[in-house]
Amino acid sequence: MILKKDKHERVSIVDGQLVKVACVGGGAGKMEVERLTPGGLPLLLSGFKGVAWAAGAGSGVIKAWLMLLISLTLGISSPVSAYRFMGYKWPRAEATFYYDIVDTKGNARSLSGTSWNEAFREAMDRWTNRTGFVFDAIDGISLDPCQEDQRNTVAFRRTDCGFEFGSTTLAVTYGFSSRGTLSETDIVFNGNELWDVYDGPLGLFFNDFTRVAVHELGHAIGLDHEDDVTSIMSSFAGDLSFPQHDDIEGVLTLYEGEIDAPNPCDSASAPLPLNIRLENRLTASDCRRAEIIATTPGRNDASLVDLYELNMPVSGLLVIRMQSEVLDSYLEVRDESGETIIAYDDDSGAGVNAFLTVRLEKGRYRVVANTAFSWAEEGGYTLEALLRFEGEAPVKLNDDKSVTIEMVEYGGRYYRATLIPFAPSTGPKGMYWRLGSATLRSPQPAIPIPGALVAPDSLDLIFNPIPALGRRYDVILQRYYDPDFPQAWIWRLKSAIPRS
Ligand SMILES: [Zn+2]
Repeated sequence: MILKKDKHERVSIVDGQLVKVACVGGGAGKMEVERLTPGGLPLLLSGFKGVAWAAGAGSGVIKAWLMLLISLTLGISSPVSAYRFMGYKWPRAEATFYYDIVDTKGNARSLSGTSWNEAFREAMDRWTNRTGFVFDAIDGISLDPCQEDQRNTVAFRRTDCGFEFGSTTLAVTYGFSSRGTLSETDIVFNGNELWDVYDGPLGLFFNDFTRVAVHELGHAIGLDHEDDVTSIMSSFAGDLSFPQHDDIEGVLTLYEGEIDAPNPCDSASAPLPLNIRLENRLTASDCRRAEIIATTPGRNDASLVDLYELNMPVSGLLVIRMQSEVLDSYLEVRDESGETIIAYDDDSGAGVNAFLTVRLEKGRYRVVANTAFSWAEEGGYTLEALLRFEGEAPVKLNDDKSVTIEMVEYGGRYYRATLIPFAPSTGPKGMYWRLGSATLRSPQPAIPIPGALVAPDSLDLIFNPIPALGRRYDVILQRYYDPDFPQAWIWRLKSAIPRS
């Protein structure tokens, strides 16, 4: 079952033992465990009363707690698999659901038009497509989920099979097992709640039927709640809507040897060449981020991913840009194993383009090309990784406070440039320079060691390390548009960070 707010109750009978667990305060608080005899639940003597999912988005406390959890897991370079099992499973990795879903008003379709049947089918596919656990659908048959009849079904109900739903309960999964082997599971949606079908963040008023169905189907497969790592099996409903890396691992482990290999999604690593602009597309056949990347702060989602392998032939500064007309691009640089994030960026480029500079040692890395939203944005993009050599920038500070840069790269060509101190009529305080002169170097250098790069999008001026006062500084000048001199090239000091 899945709970809506910050209270989570669970009652289950696993092989004859009834266990009641109440977690108060969003899972971080007091936990009571009560053991009862199987006779305690007259309705379901041979079954368990499954687990409820709470909608965490409605509660700021829960959300804050989840963020804390996420930020704590960020520091762990290699998240351990943490899936939990209910203690039962199907004899084979397959189950058939019979259903013909109408809501409590008798509607077969949600407000946004998707039928409940279609949405449930989609929820089943989200497991089947990526784990190999086969959910079959036979729709057009309406069965009673409160009836033990050896058939799996799903329905909206006003009550939890005759009992009141908990005030925060969204849905309940019932299961019937004997010696750890399931024979039936049934899902009861709380018909007193407001329901619709949608992607993206969990809404405040309407619950998303599909993602709650995905969660309940996880219980039907044999997964229990998992609150230590990012998981669709979290006790609380939230923005996740697909099985996550850990959930998939859990199913593969539970049905090891009985499961066909899942459909591979296509995010095979391709080499990312240096200093060349690459064109690619995020498409529906790409893997979803959640399927291939374990715990990541705030980035556990259904967005599409392309993976690249990057080989740094020398240590140096790497400038990576991902640009798109249609995508909100998002970039990550990870270690070779892909498990540790070294750097990431969302919007540092112009518009919503990703742009990052990162210092990397010689070696191999992974680059993740992704989008910022948690749904499957598709579209083309360009990606380029520009290597800046490690040498000190040929940059000279002159007596008149002007700056000479022996080599500036702009648009793939190299210039000798002079910057002159500038005082804007308006604008934030800071140190400003305007371009005094720029001369195309002739011949163009064969092995360029530029002192600075004009970033293609933002037109920021990014320097190679500059020696000063016994240290070396990474300096970035931000392009500034002065209303009095709209045609002038003016920059403002953005950052000067000493190299550790
Ligand atoms: Zn649950």
